[in-house]
Amino acid sequence: MQYEEYEKHVARFIGKERDRFTALSDEIWGYAEIGYEEHRSAATQKALLEHFGFRVSDKLAGMSTAFLGEAGHGEPVIAFLGEFDALPGLDQEAGNPQRAGNSARNGHACGHHLLGTGALAAAVATADFLGCHGLPGRVRYYGCPAEENGVGKAFLARGGYFADVDAALTWHPGASTGIMTGPILANIQVYFRFTGRAAHASNAAHLGRSALDAVELMNVGVNYLREHMPPEARVHYAITDSGGHAPNVVQAHAEALYLVRSPSAAELKALYQRVCQIAQGAALMTGTTLEIAVDKASAEMLHNQALEKWLSEIVAKVGAPVFDEADQTAARGFQASLSKEDLATGKRKFLIPADYAEALADRPMPYQASHPSVGGSTDVADVSWIVPTAQIWGPCFAIGTPGHSWQNTAQGKSTYAHKGMLHTAKILALAAIELLRTPEILAAAKKEIEESIRQSGLPNLLPAEVNPPRRDKTSFVL
Ligand SMILES: [Zn+2]
Repeated sequence: MQYEEYEKHVARFIGKERDRFTALSDEIWGYAEIGYEEHRSAATQKALLEHFGFRVSDKLAGMSTAFLGEAGHGEPVIAFLGEFDALPGLDQEAGNPQRAGNSARNGHACGHHLLGTGALAAAVATADFLGCHGLPGRVRYYGCPAEENGVGKAFLARGGYFADVDAALTWHPGASTGIMTGPILANIQVYFRFTGRAAHASNAAHLGRSALDAVELMNVGVNYLREHMPPEARVHYAITDSGGHAPNVVQAHAEALYLVRSPSAAELKALYQRVCQIAQGAALMTGTTLEIAVDKASAEMLHNQALEKWLSEIVAKVGAPVFDEADQTAARGFQASLSKEDLATGKRKFLIPADYAEALADRPMPYQASHPSVGGSTDVADVSWIVPTAQIWGPCFAIGTPGHSWQNTAQGKSTYAHKGMLHTAKILALAAIELLRTPEILAAAKKEIEESIRQSGLPNLLPAEVNPPRRDKTSFVL
């Protein structure tokens, strides 16, 4: 059987089921659920998997919204990774290029409703192909909660749910069709809680021990650290408890939440150790006690060059979706709300030429093994150390749309976002079918992982005591 026949079959299937997939995506957009509490989003995905004859198991690895559906028989096993969580405060009216949202509500500002639905569509299209042709191999869809403010995939990986998988494929909605080769940073998110002693801030100030002072001194210390850390590393913080609102009371408790990132787990561990030492120093200076509670951690992405390069040939063959003038005009409406810098940054991120004139990318971007941007983090990386994993971008948003923005939420139900999602589902299904029938690619990809682990060891960043969904359950006192 030839590639052209796979393509015809997959395109026909996705075309026939188009309305079902777009309705699923729009429904999840409306739920806009977050952080291990995506109950309705998970339920509607599970129902659709069952409709297509998948065997569904749920409540995986201690997460009530983690599930997987499997179809087919025998080997190999290809996994599609899906997400469905939203972001707080980024609600926005669909299709409206003016800010018109309720900032107290969640919004799908990272397109995970499209991501999950597209990956699910790819899984059922692949299963349909295998079933129709009586071919061996299993297809799985993993419903992975809390990518944004948790690490659902890291818990699934630690729970052994990928142990028998031969390759994992996924995608992310963005502004072009192409392979996601950019760096994905290892990270650890940690609460630093200081406890002091309350006192009248004037007549008994000498009896007070200020936890707020400790947080401030820690932040100052870490800001001095920045000059002496690797340039690609990142340290961010938020003051999550300032100790109260009364300046005339010495604050007895205060807390900062730190997110430390680095291109490698080894470098991250060293940097994190220095941040902890600064926190200890702040506690010493202020006579307070310190508690450190790990919230979440995930690895750096192990890019699988064998798989990515091979996938890039499929992407080049299938090309980009066809957008019509109405799509381009609507997308241009959103570009009008963006700055020149947003546009330039977006083009760089998606490897789009600076002089590219259209608002939606209507051709695939060439494969580039090393990428110029610094990148963020995702728990897809935790899967990549166990199973050869590759991710592609799908064009769903106007070029320049910043990630995690209301403009992103607003475009999540557009006809062009739907087109980008279904087109990417087709690419992923074709890739899975090829992979199932080409064992030498799987063998080369696996060998590459083994070699990387032999050289650098496993990242092992998630402490054994950290469990979902109460992410701050574990703690230790210094
Ligand atoms: Zn995302």
